[in-house]
Amino acid sequence: MKIPNSARDSTGNGRHTELGVCLVTGVAGFIGSQVAEALLAKGYFVIGVDNLNDYYSPDSKRENLSALLSSKAFIFHEKDLNDIPAGTLPAHIDFAFHLAGQPGVRSSWSTSFETYVTSNILATQRLLELIVNCDVRRLIFASSSSIYGQASGPVTERSIPRPLSPYGATKLAAEGVCLAYSSEYSLPVTILRYFTVYGPRQRPDMAIYKFLNAAITQTPIRIFGDGSQRRAFTYVDDVVNASVSAMNESSHAAIYNISGGRPTTLNDCLAIIEEATGRRIPRQYCETQRGDPYETEADISEAQRCLGYEPRVPLELGIAREWEWLQAHSAGVVLL
Ligand code: NAD
Repeated sequence: MKIPNSARDSTGNGRHTELGVCLVTGVAGFIGSQVAEALLAKGYFVIGVDNLNDYYSPDSKRENLSALLSSKAFIFHEKDLNDIPAGTLPAHIDFAFHLAGQPGVRSSWSTSFETYVTSNILATQRLLELIVNCDVRRLIFASSSSIYGQASGPVTERSIPRPLSPYGATKLAAEGVCLAYSSEYSLPVTILRYFTVYGPRQRPDMAIYKFLNAAITQTPIRIFGDGSQRRAFTYVDDVVNASVSAMNESSHAAIYNISGGRPTTLNDCLAIIEEATGRRIPRQYCETQRGDPYETEADISEAQRCLGYEPRVPLELGIAREWEWLQAHSAGVVLL
């Protein structure tokens, strides 16, 4: 996994980048592709890794990669992290962003758990083994609000994690592996606990995508529970900005909640979507699902204080932007 000489000349001065080299895992995914675009825009050289798995359409993932692939400062490796041999990464990587993983709370039970262990725990440990000798200035790991489980009121980074789902348990275990390598190998690490991210390129298994897609297809969506459950929705640009800001972190190991602010009920979210699309969303109310917390809410004061993080995109605006994107891409809509 080398940086080609042609890429080294991308700045025209023989160096591969002005600022340094970033590794982004999960680079073809919803969030990873947008983190990589932000890093390129800042002037970094980006090495992207993704196994293009079929949890949702690999064609959507290839589309996520298209803008990146047009840059000479980007190289892509279609690889599973667990299959990358030791010693194949470049000797020097400035920053590693680890977003590869198996998401999805509801599908993490039963026999699928093995996939979650492989993609979230084993792949994280594999990545750490690969990068410990690459002189990495900081690892930024995409963790999740799912590590908290049910909480009443806003959770802080010091709240006791009690995951309600096997997915949350694997993300918490991966955090632990990152912290162990950080301490043993002097590897600076920042763990970001993202809260329900939405926006253009959102995964098709996620609520807002499903609601917007139902506005197009007029196929009824299922609401698990009575719709009063509350989520701290976070617009993808805010998550990308927080992830990039984490590069400037000074503490050796830090954990931050990254959330969009005040939580919204699913029913209110549906009302915003009906307003934005001008269409009614047909729906059926069903039984609640195991692993789904009733409410998620974050205290983001640590991220505000240390990363200068501020969620900038309100739900109404973010939904309007995702609606615009989905309409432009709806020809190939694939639901799970
Ligand atoms: P995504 O599925 O769109 O992106 C993950 C990418 O990782 C996919 O493209 C997949 O092909 C790749 N991948 C999975 N296992 C891999 C492996 N072993 N080797 C190489 N590539 C692999 O998901 P997303 O929503 O963009 O989430 C990105 C990260 O953020 C995940 O780790 C997820 O747990 C975390 N996260 C997401 C949210 C959210 O709301 N989307 C919230 C909290 C945390």
